[in-house]
Amino acid sequence: MDELGVSSGEFVAIEGGEGRVIARVWPGSSQDTGRGIVRIDGQLRQAAGARIDDAVSVEAADVNPAERVRVALPENVRIQGDIGSYLRGKLSDRAVSPGDTLTVSLGFGLLTSRSGRQLPITVVDTEPAGTVVVGNRTDVELVDRAPDQLEIEARGPIDGGDGEDGEAPTVTYEDVGGLDDELEQVREMIELPMRHPELFRTLGIDPPKGVLLHGPPGTGKTLIARAVANEVDAHFHSISGPEIMSKYYGESEEQLREVFEEAAENEPAIVFIDELDSIAPKREDVQGDVERRVVAQLLSLMDGLEDRGEITVIGTTNRVDAIDPALRRGGRFDREIEIGAPDTGGREEILQIHTRGMPLSEDVDLARFAENTHGFVGADLESLAKEAAMTAMRRLRPELDLEADEIDAEVLEKIEVTGGDFRSALRG
Ligand code: ADP
Repeated sequence: MDELGVSSGEFVAIEGGEGRVIARVWPGSSQDTGRGIVRIDGQLRQAAGARIDDAVSVEAADVNPAERVRVALPENVRIQGDIGSYLRGKLSDRAVSPGDTLTVSLGFGLLTSRSGRQLPITVVDTEPAGTVVVGNRTDVELVDRAPDQLEIEARGPIDGGDGEDGEAPTVTYEDVGGLDDELEQVREMIELPMRHPELFRTLGIDPPKGVLLHGPPGTGKTLIARAVANEVDAHFHSISGPEIMSKYYGESEEQLREVFEEAAENEPAIVFIDELDSIAPKREDVQGDVERRVVAQLLSLMDGLEDRGEITVIGTTNRVDAIDPALRRGGRFDREIEIGAPDTGGREEILQIHTRGMPLSEDVDLARFAENTHGFVGADLESLAKEAAMTAMRRLRPELDLEADEIDAEVLEKIEVTGGDFRSALRG
């Protein structure tokens, strides 16, 4: 900050490889002093076109106060009443530019047709034109999307990506809580080889074809796989083990083949196999011919992958010992990462992630809820936060018609999630 001549709260432009974003600057924690790093969140990082540990350039930025900002909501969202002042509150102090897609939380995403908490809104234009900062005199106006604005790509809700195959899901590493060491391993085993296959070739190492994530359900294994696919810009093809064995019974092998073929057509790609143990249990446990053939098929598909590191197969299981040992040999799922239940600090991080978009009242002490939730995994903590939000919502129910297509902007402004909401969510 000294070098750039900026002080706390002023604006800087952060430029990564593929983008540029304006942000406010604040002093970091003292442990970061002199390390030459900036800490930004996943949204800013993606807007700046940077990955974790990439170099970025930072410079002071001139930002004018906004007279007027016109924004558009996704097409499936309808709000009635004057939402301008509500949106101004949400955008207050933020730097925005035409074309930006910002995620804001509107009533915890209950307004969206999907389950996401965050709603993408697009900045259509600004006065004065360019990057401006929203203040309490700014006129924020909601407009319908002009046809040419539709091309502006809306970033989905953060837990979107809704399993649609092929789409790189928009989960970032910042959406994963309490798994720093595990993420470090994931980056080394999956991201690095996919980003720099040439490095591995030069060193004469085969990039891993298969990585097994194992640990209890709901700890974030799927989340991590989606995050890494997003970070390396890889297509994501997912297979549910139990589904392929039941729903596609009789066609399981063909289904597997198809997924691998699709991945091959869309390199770089990640093939994600959830609950691998149900496809590939130890062969001595396997009863029928079908199961044996499916395991054999998977083995041959993995053996058929070239060593170019363009396709990585990620499998998950709660029971690593139940998996056919043939699958865990070299050149197959030969790397393993254990994803355990979070400790207190991890639980606090996860709670922070899942309350990120919520209007929390001041009495909410997430650290204390983290202490009181021993044994909770990420999925439990997510439910806890959602349930607390629903409890807050119910309090406003008399004023709120949850069935209606449109929701009153005035009611939105009143919603606040309190410590009591969390306690009653905890009691279940
Ligand atoms: P698994 O694949 O290990 O069974 P998931 O990744 O499907 O678990 O987790 C389900 C949901 O729970 C995730 O979509 C996420 O919202 C939440 N969750 C689980 N673990 C974490 C975590 N470590 N950090 C943040 N959220 C988590």
